[in-house]
Amino acid sequence: MTKVHHLNCVKIESPLGSAIGHCLLIQENQKLILIDSGIGFMESKEPEKRLGKDLIEVVGFIFDKSLTAIRQIEKLGFKPENVENIICSHLDPDHIGGLADFPKAKIHVSKEEYESFKSGNERYLQQQLSHKPDLELYETNDTDWYGLSARRVKLNAQTEVLLIPLFGHTLGHCGIAIKTNNKWIFYVGDAYYLRAELEDKNHPVGQLATIRAVDNQLRLESLEAVRKVVRRYGNQMEYFGYHDPTEFKERKPVGNNVYK
Ligand SMILES: [Zn+2]
Repeated sequence: MTKVHHLNCVKIESPLGSAIGHCLLIQENQKLILIDSGIGFMESKEPEKRLGKDLIEVVGFIFDKSLTAIRQIEKLGFKPENVENIICSHLDPDHIGGLADFPKAKIHVSKEEYESFKSGNERYLQQQLSHKPDLELYETNDTDWYGLSARRVKLNAQTEVLLIPLFGHTLGHCGIAIKTNNKWIFYVGDAYYLRAELEDKNHPVGQLATIRAVDNQLRLESLEAVRKVVRRYGNQMEYFGYHDPTEFKERKPVGNNVYK
């Protein structure tokens, strides 16, 4: 039986509100797959050195070592080496700080996103990948998922994982569809910041999303694609984004899901 642990690995407090970093840990016996990785342990130890004072102040990061994925995984009784694969929705700093804590893990990400990262766009922090992890890049849509184009993630695992291109927030941002125990989870990453955006097309957080988007028109199209899937198939799956604290706290654990 595969177990899905929900981990919050980010704490953000700003005048705009609170935000989290909703990561997933998929456990197949001793083998672990991590979905996004939050703020890293070294970053929590030396935030200004690793992330820079400006970024910390602009975003409103609060650092807490006990929130890092590595600490939470150790608390569950695993070793960092148990994490063999990490799948990234995209490469923004609040999503990939934890990668360096699992230097042996293979990183899976869209090719567009990695190229954008390498292009020198200032939103990315090059040092977060300076440990030179083993990378698997995906650029071809090779399947469909509920009407959306998708890319099969190469894993030697029972769990099926697809990257779902939802570009716009960044040039290669993807949602992640995960099939465990015959049920789909739709991890939408930063395709929305707050679940309320699904219903409210004029939600005030849309202003922040617009500012942060590399291609806002594309972002809006991706958000519309998420709305469509959720409207038609939402009752068959669990879906959530990365940053919305209410999704993390208020949702009841389903089946084997464990919220930490
Ligand atoms: Zn984010």
